[in-house]
Amino acid sequence: MDKKKWGFSTRALHGGWDPKPTEPRILPLYQSTTYYYEDADYLAKIFDLEVDDHMYTRISNPTVAGFEERITLLEGGVGAVATSSGQAASTIALLNICQAGQHIVAASTLYGGTYTLLSITFKRLGIEVSFVDPEAPAEEIMQAFRPDTRALLAETIGNPGLNVLDFEKFSNIARSMDVPLIIDNTFPSPYLCRPFEHGANIVVHSATKYIDGHATSTGGVVIDGGNYNWDNGKYPEITEPDPSYHGLRFWDKFGQQAYITKARYQLARDLGTCLSPFNAFLMHIGLETLSLRMAKHSANALALAQYLESHPQVAWVSYPGLASHHSHKLAQKYLPLGSGGVLTFGVKGGLANGKTFINNVKLAALVIHLGDIRTSVLHPASTTHRQLSEEEQRASGVTPDMIRVSVGLEDIDDILADFDQALEKASHT
Ligand SMILES: *Cc1c(COP(=O)(O)O)cnc(C)c1O
Repeated sequence: MDKKKWGFSTRALHGGWDPKPTEPRILPLYQSTTYYYEDADYLAKIFDLEVDDHMYTRISNPTVAGFEERITLLEGGVGAVATSSGQAASTIALLNICQAGQHIVAASTLYGGTYTLLSITFKRLGIEVSFVDPEAPAEEIMQAFRPDTRALLAETIGNPGLNVLDFEKFSNIARSMDVPLIIDNTFPSPYLCRPFEHGANIVVHSATKYIDGHATSTGGVVIDGGNYNWDNGKYPEITEPDPSYHGLRFWDKFGQQAYITKARYQLARDLGTCLSPFNAFLMHIGLETLSLRMAKHSANALALAQYLESHPQVAWVSYPGLASHHSHKLAQKYLPLGSGGVLTFGVKGGLANGKTFINNVKLAALVIHLGDIRTSVLHPASTTHRQLSEEEQRASGVTPDMIRVSVGLEDIDDILADFDQALEKASHT
């Protein structure tokens, strides 16, 4: 049975757990830090990475492994490491191949949390980051590269600018600069877009969002496409002997899986960024309905975007699925099954009226989250992007009046009615 040949929904339901006769049909929650052995030599072999087995839950756990295997199958990669959050996933993905004195090129439209991770915390660690406008011509983006650049980072759909990445341009840049293309694929999830099919080398997710899908757990994951040649002299941490494993060379021993094996057994081991088994259990279940949820999220978001676009109280609407969106062509090319559940809009009259709108929604809730099955709204400038200067906010696609909507799975008529009554109140601000 070649699971890779299954359709997406079949992989989501049957990947990552193979029960033997009389074992539970559902991947069990292995809520255990430790594992039992009968042979000291066997345990030593695990420690030497001679055999692939569990030793301690900070490094691996059977429930977490089930989730990792399932998401690997869905993205089409060669392996994954689950993490405690999306932030931990980005941290692991980058620190795995980048250290003090080196450099990263990143899209300026990244999620606010990733932006501050890079611009403040990575800077303190001695890693410099150049932010580039992802919509600039390739030649301009290439000027940001230096001999010590080790990665190119971008999001499939920018948060909250909703610009769709030109994968062809970005993968060509990464290839000609000979660095891996790392993609945050949180917004579309692997159902709507699989970046490895478009030249990406590493994918990260905030699994907190659509993968969990029900707003129950924080988590993240790094997935390795197994399609980058690390043996180009730039990544000695992968190709040269590792002193913390008696001189093991990850590239020689693990080949295609060198990057992700190092991420687990060296970096996640040292930084302690593991996903809890319980959260992995929930996310493994979350993936089972991902295809259904993403299709409905996309359909509801498109219907709401079209409704808002024709609403007299609305100043502007941004959704890649709308023909009026500047990324619409790229959305048609890279997101043929739908543009996801997030849209943004501005209420006529600006910020004050927008706040009245947010204060008056009844079905939708004001929450710091997206990807929930329930509709939620947020004002990015005063919350998720508050730490950025106004100029940085503009570069990341945030305007002062922007309201971000994560469209849920309620009946669309109820969502439209809720927005309509709140917009009516906003018009009397
Ligand atoms: C939320 C989010 C993150 C951070 O994920 P956490 O799970 O909250 O740490 C990273 N990238 C994107 C695009 C996000 O939306």
